Amino acid sequence: MTQLEVHQFPCLSDNYGFLIHDPIKEVTAAIDTPEVPAINRALEEKGWRLTHILNTHHHPDHAGGNLELKEQWQCTIVGARDDAQRIPGIDIKVADGEIYQFGNQAARVFDVSGHTLGHIAYYFPDASKLFCGDALFALGCGRLFEGSPAQMWQSLQKLIALPDDTSVYCGHEYTQANAAFALSVEPQNSELQQRVKAIDALRADNLPTVPTTIGMEKATNPFLRPMSPDLQSNLHMTGADLVEVFAETRHRKDNF
Ligand code: ZN
Ligand code: FE
Repeated sequence: MTQLEVHQFPCLSDNYGFLIHDPIKEVTAAIDTPEVPAINRALEEKGWRLTHILNTHHHPDHAGGNLELKEQWQCTIVGARDDAQRIPGIDIKVADGEIYQFGNQAARVFDVSGHTLGHIAYYFPDASKLFCGDALFALGCGRLFEGSPAQMWQSLQKLIALPDDTSVYCGHEYTQANAAFALSVEPQNSELQQRVKAIDALRADNLPTVPTTIGMEKATNPFLRPMSPDLQSNLHMTGADLVEVFAETRHRKDNF
């Protein structure tokens, strides 16, 4: 069993930075580049040299530090082939279904467009870890800035298919606000009620609610639950097409 060490740290107001490290091949990647000084502090703390950047999407709070870090570390930048022109300094272009070999670790690439077009996620099956940027959040999903509800639902279905014990490292600490919305659309969900208590306790101590797991999200995240009879009933959409239920859920969150 190979190892993949993850170091997580807060960046900007509510982003997370992640460093992933393969101790055998001695490679270290930043998952996105929200804040250069925070990333450099994290590298120093761990005693790691930055060899790679794995970008999920083009937004400045995810790719804004690319060029400065590349200049400093001569690292290799990996990003979406479908959005290569918006990923600063991109060296290696990857696409849905491809495997990117990071040290001893294989990363499967998923296109999870919707928040942006050309948004990708990196799944490390041997380590049971998913880095999904702003596609899926704890109890939420990314706003649809560029894609359609149908496209986002298709993207999220790829993530739902992963094993329940997969750790999900998302790009932001939005969980408490997401929890309030989730309770408003599926108040009957007892697992959700329990989870919100746990989230409130963590946040009261300023602790992260990330990573989450695929199993936890499937049980409690309304954006993964358009098939829930309670959710459908609460939206007055019993029996409706799942894309329509997802779209209505997203629409309500945008106005929550
Ligand atoms: Zn974003
Ligand atoms: Fe973001």
